[in-house]
Amino acid sequence: NLYNMVQDLKGNIRVYCRIRPIFNDETKTVIDHIGDDGSLVVVDPLKPQKDKRKIFQFNHVFGPNATQYDVFRETQPLVRSVMDGYNVCIFAYGQTGSGKTHTMCGPGGSANELGINCLAINDLFQLSNERKDIIEYRIQIRSCASDDGLVLPNATMCPVKSTTDVINLMKLGEGNRAVGSTAINNQSSRSHSVLTIHVHGEDVSRNILQSCFHLVDLAGSERVDKSEVTGDGLKEAQYINKSLACLGDVIAALAQKNSHIPYRNSKLTLLLQNALGGNAKTLMFAHVNPEGDSFGETMSTLKFAQRVS
Ligand code: ADP
Ligand code: MG
Repeated sequence: NLYNMVQDLKGNIRVYCRIRPIFNDETKTVIDHIGDDGSLVVVDPLKPQKDKRKIFQFNHVFGPNATQYDVFRETQPLVRSVMDGYNVCIFAYGQTGSGKTHTMCGPGGSANELGINCLAINDLFQLSNERKDIIEYRIQIRSCASDDGLVLPNATMCPVKSTTDVINLMKLGEGNRAVGSTAINNQSSRSHSVLTIHVHGEDVSRNILQSCFHLVDLAGSERVDKSEVTGDGLKEAQYINKSLACLGDVIAALAQKNSHIPYRNSKLTLLLQNALGGNAKTLMFAHVNPEGDSFGETMSTLKFAQRVS
């Protein structure tokens, strides 16, 4: 179909930018313009001159008023391709507080604000049901955290039958997640959270289809000031910064169709290797906190995202 054709022409990597609302009314925004064509213009409110504006181009930009459903609608074709046998990775990248968990999991507690993970899993079960006379699907999920120094503590594979099973499993995973204290946000997670969905399908003629789908809520991308974290915290922060840089290298190499893809440089990219490259489809959300104070971090997020697109 047309969607797949367009994907093939563009390669299998897309980058969406999502800008969260401003919570402090006193603060100026860094957003100058959001284009329907995926363009984004930002400006430092302290240096608002026209020639200081920075222009970026993505596959899509979601402004502060975009709903969870707006975001899911643009993601749904990718999610559905998992049921056709494609491996898929969706990443949420950005500084702490920029909305990564909001996009992937939702704010919690409110059923109409569900994140991509629940909406996607719901959709997979729905497709499985629609196709039940043609293909028999089995869906298994695994939830784990990795600070990239350790290998997947408590990663277990669980067969699931409903979205409720999945939500319970994710709560378990969230409890296992290492949470460190930083100056930015004392709930800031310094680990990557990876939810993996394995799909196995068998049709009436015994043809087998197998795919996996990773939903990755990455650790905060903020640069860590050495004066504010010490000891184990600093070591962990350095692992995180290294693994995010390695992820950027891998996706950039794939986007440029390089012959060598440096998967082996981090545990995260090794873990996700089978779903990055080849026929796999990758989507990166670059999250932006538009408040003026975050201009430096926002520029670094947008540059990272521009490089991999
Ligand atoms: P991160 O996971 O990147 O640290 P969060 O997802 O926890 O950031 O977002 C920080 C706060 O902002 C949370 O209270 C969250 O609910 C809120 N928030 C983030 N994105 C949005 C959005 N698009 N609309 C409304 N609230 C949002
Ligand atoms: Mg978070």
